[in-house]
Amino acid sequence: MALRLYNTITRKKEPFQPIDAGNVRMYVCGPTVYDFAHIGNARPVIVFDVLFRLLRHLCGADHVTYVRNITDVDDKINARAAQDYPDLPLNEAIRRVTEKTEKQFHHDVAALGCLPPTVEPRATEHIAAMREMIDDLIANGCAYVAEDHVLFDVAAMPDYGKLSGRSLDEMIAGARVEVAPYKRDPMDFVLWKPSKPGEPSWPSPAGIAAPGRPGWHIECSAMSWKHLGKTFDIHGGGIDLVFPHHENEIAQSRCAFHTPVMANYWLHNGFLQVEGEKMAKSLGNFVTIHELLQDWGGYKWPGEALRFNMLKTHYRQPLDWTYSSLDEAHGILWEWYGDLKGKDASAAGVPGHVLDALSDDLNTPKAIAAMHELHSAAKWPELRAALGLLGFSGDRDKMVRIPAIDFGDENNVRLTVRMVGSLSGTAQEAMIKDLIHSRMIARQAKKFDVADQIRDELAAMGIELKDAKDPKTGELVTTWEVAR
Ligand code: AMP
Ligand code: ZN
Repeated sequence: MALRLYNTITRKKEPFQPIDAGNVRMYVCGPTVYDFAHIGNARPVIVFDVLFRLLRHLCGADHVTYVRNITDVDDKINARAAQDYPDLPLNEAIRRVTEKTEKQFHHDVAALGCLPPTVEPRATEHIAAMREMIDDLIANGCAYVAEDHVLFDVAAMPDYGKLSGRSLDEMIAGARVEVAPYKRDPMDFVLWKPSKPGEPSWPSPAGIAAPGRPGWHIECSAMSWKHLGKTFDIHGGGIDLVFPHHENEIAQSRCAFHTPVMANYWLHNGFLQVEGEKMAKSLGNFVTIHELLQDWGGYKWPGEALRFNMLKTHYRQPLDWTYSSLDEAHGILWEWYGDLKGKDASAAGVPGHVLDALSDDLNTPKAIAAMHELHSAAKWPELRAALGLLGFSGDRDKMVRIPAIDFGDENNVRLTVRMVGSLSGTAQEAMIKDLIHSRMIARQAKKFDVADQIRDELAAMGIELKDAKDPKTGELVTTWEVAR
């Protein structure tokens, strides 16, 4: 069984050949720490945790180095710090924002069953490495200074655009490229920029007198270099990072080090979506990991349920977020863990078909299908081993059953509706739609008391459901509005 991975740069599934089997090296772009992570941000963390665990299983736990950075210098951080702590000096305010957010992030992803990476470098601790790379890029004729900025000269790299497969013209048309008067070409991107007084700043490279700060892309090139070397095995992140972030990382690293590649395998996860749209802070359609996992009066969604829900879909596919699929994932784990309780706890190896599925470009849906078979065949030690490899505890005592809709328990309906009250706009709408769906299922199951309870609890919160018949199909259609 050989590991095969889909490589964005060749657009093919390829056999995985590490540069050094004694030290397999993987870099994944980590969070910019200015706000709570949402469950879309959780997807790459979970996906690459599964790959990390698989590599450790295949190559030995001590033979894999996984680096995931913390971006703690960024304009979004500065803005948030000024907003949240207007009375503090900016640098002190920034420290508070980044420390708090980083702690929350660690807490959130641990609850999702993710191992800490081997190294978690911070951008602010690698400024010297960034300056060194920038000076090399200028010396190599790949970067230039203009108005106290340092810019990467895209024309100096003939195969710029290879990762995203776009031509220069397409990139200019497709990306919102910042046109600035000091750029030679609109595609040139910032390696270093001047800081305003009071903003975080460091001595600049290239003999620029004004203090400044790095651009985002150079941060990852410098941190991967320092912790994994000039060329390494795997680089990962969400699909939105292909262009421009990863394209620019490649340009910087290859041109600074004169190497033919930065990383051999480029892996990208698809989006977590809400009704067909990417979940994103800027769209306001997000649910934070924190709000999803918080305690709802003694009941919580277990992080494992969110993890399982993510892994039911292949990592490259888009994944539509619904509470009913989270509930379904929760229900499966609840059943499996209950059945595992008190059963044969002898150790077993991970079954071959589970490992084969994962080795085929992390085919987690196939692995989960194989686990359903293990469950049906009462192969408890094997099921436990497969769960363990995928990062699941197998321990029912760690879970509390609060399905969004447990038809047998009216308290659950009440709690679920209460959750609606505390969610933000789009998340709330999504959950109301889920509840309408549940009400329909309850009616089909002739559980009219449950159906009525859902309607009444929502009404008590000022959300009114309206039933109407579709004149063509005769089907019952339910809409909702906020009661006046
Ligand atoms: P950001 O904080 O936007 O830089 O994102 C951090 C990581 O989360 C990156 O790897 C993104 O590609 C990834 N990401 C952001 N939004 C989503 C989403 N809706 N679905 C999947 N991955 C996402
Ligand atoms: Zn990066």
